[in-house]
Amino acid sequence: MTTYIILLGPPGAGKGTQAQAISETLRLPHISSGDIFRENLKKETELGKLAAGFMNKGELVPDDVTIAMIRERLTRSDCQAGALLDGFPRTPAQAVALSNMLEELGGQVAAVPYISVPEPVLIERLTGRWTCRQAGHIFHEKYNPSRQPGRCDFDGSELYQREDDKAETVTRRIRVYLEQTKPLIDYYQQLGCLIEVDGTLPIEQVTANLLAALPANE
Ligand code: AMP
Repeated sequence: MTTYIILLGPPGAGKGTQAQAISETLRLPHISSGDIFRENLKKETELGKLAAGFMNKGELVPDDVTIAMIRERLTRSDCQAGALLDGFPRTPAQAVALSNMLEELGGQVAAVPYISVPEPVLIERLTGRWTCRQAGHIFHEKYNPSRQPGRCDFDGSELYQREDDKAETVTRRIRVYLEQTKPLIDYYQQLGCLIEVDGTLPIEQVTANLLAALPANE
C-alpha cells in the first residue's frame, strides 16, 4: 500500500519538527522541499542558486522548478512505500501536479494533517528558531532550546538562524502563505482528507495527536 501524507500548515507551524518525529514511526521518508532547496544551496548547484533568489526574499520558487524537483525525488527507490511531504504542495498548481504524479506512481494522498497555529504565534516561533547545519534539526531559543547553546543535541553541529527566519522576511513568508498556500486547506477538505491538529500544544502532544489521527495508525 503506497501512503503519501502531506503536512500542511503555515511557516512556523512545526511541520519540520513533527515530520522528523513521525517519519520513523510511519516508516516513510521525510521529504521537505525547503530542505532539498537548502541542500542545493549548500552544494552551490544551479538549482540552489536559482532557488536562493526567491527563498531569501521569502517568496516561492517557481512551480515548474519545484514540481520537477519533487517528481525526481518521489521516483527514487526509498519512496516505493510512499512519503511524508513537508512544504510541498504550496500552491494550487503544485497540488494538481502532485495528484497527477501520484496517479502515475500508482498511489494517492492518504491524509493531509493541517497543523493550525494563529498568526501572532508564528512570528515569535520563526524569529526564535535555530537550525542545525548538518541535518536541519530544529530548535527554538525559548520553547525548545538545545542542551548546549549553539550546538545540535543530535549531531553536535553548529546551530544557525536561517536567512529567511530573520524578522523582515518572516512577515513576507506569512503573507505568501495566506495568499498561495491557504487555499489548499479547502482543496484537501473537499477531497475528504484534511485532519486539523492544534499546533499550539506542546511538541510531544502534537506528535501524539498526529499519530492518533493518521489512518495508518487506526
Ligand atoms: P520551508 O523550509 O518549507 O519553510 O521553505 C523555505 C523556502 O523554500 C520557502 O520560503 C520557499 O522560498 C522555498 N520553498 C520550499 N518549498 C516550496 C514549494 N513547495 N514551492 C515553492 N517554494 C518552496
